[in-house]
Amino acid sequence: MTTSETRSLLRHVLGISAAALAAHPEQRLNATQLERFNALVTRRRAGEPMAYLTGKREFYSRDFVVSPAVLIPRPETELLVEIGLSHAGKRVLDLGTGSGCVAITLALELKQARVTAVDYSAAALAVARDNGRRLGATVDFRESHWFSAVDGPFDLIVANPPYIAEGDRHLSDLHFEPSSALTSGADGLDAIRQIIAEAPPYLASGGWLFLEHGYDQAVAVRELLKAAHFSSIEQHQDMAGIVRVSGGCLFSNNEYGKSRIGIIRNLSVTTQVGVNLPPLQGEGWGGDGVLRGILPPIPLPTSPLKGEE
Ligand code: GLN
Repeated sequence: MTTSETRSLLRHVLGISAAALAAHPEQRLNATQLERFNALVTRRRAGEPMAYLTGKREFYSRDFVVSPAVLIPRPETELLVEIGLSHAGKRVLDLGTGSGCVAITLALELKQARVTAVDYSAAALAVARDNGRRLGATVDFRESHWFSAVDGPFDLIVANPPYIAEGDRHLSDLHFEPSSALTSGADGLDAIRQIIAEAPPYLASGGWLFLEHGYDQAVAVRELLKAAHFSSIEQHQDMAGIVRVSGGCLFSNNEYGKSRIGIIRNLSVTTQVGVNLPPLQGEGWGGDGVLRGILPPIPLPTSPLKGEE
């Protein structure tokens, strides 16, 4: 246990700021406070994360309440928020919201957006709603197993789903957190496979899906996105240089026809990779209105189509 952790627990028990503790180091703990402090130190020594001991964690410069019902917000998930902010449209969905940190941050940063957030854990949703209230965010929180209780369409869908493989050696360090928020099948990709497969009917044409995933899942997630006919596939590195967030854009048959002129007129070729769109003559479209096959690259919008309602 580090000195800084000891100080944090002291501040937590005393209910004072770092500055107040520094200004009054002579303060004494009363019997109740001492008992609480000792209990917290024991839990910390047993490996419990600081966020569960203090009941909060900072994410995107805001304090979120956390409990063992939710995954502790991670700095790498701020990348998912950044990408969401740069690809957002009016209707946003966060899948597996947990503490609500992604949905609430998007709602607070994107004043025009309507944000829906789902989790299938009622206990997690209670934490998320509490955070939404405390931080003054308007988010439609719903109990839903992925898409089961949402309607759509959405211009942006984001998710930090469970993605650790069952039996992964990192799990032993994470056993205080809900395993349903961490693990997902033998290769860790079950949730991601399901989300990518089920997302298309819930996306507006030109809408984006972005997922956080594990350090070694970039290729698998890209292939899943391609197989589900996403185009403009983007893969983003976290601060450690690891590809952490992948996503793509989906066009439906009809909307693609409408949007094509806009694409050609307004947009320059950007750094996007894996742009797969059909030739002008409608080849490559499935009967269900979804892109099929590998098609010649043309420039694509970097943000969802505007003006869709
Ligand atoms: N990023 C977390 C970790 O590796 C896992 C979060 C998740 O499974 N969504 O500790």
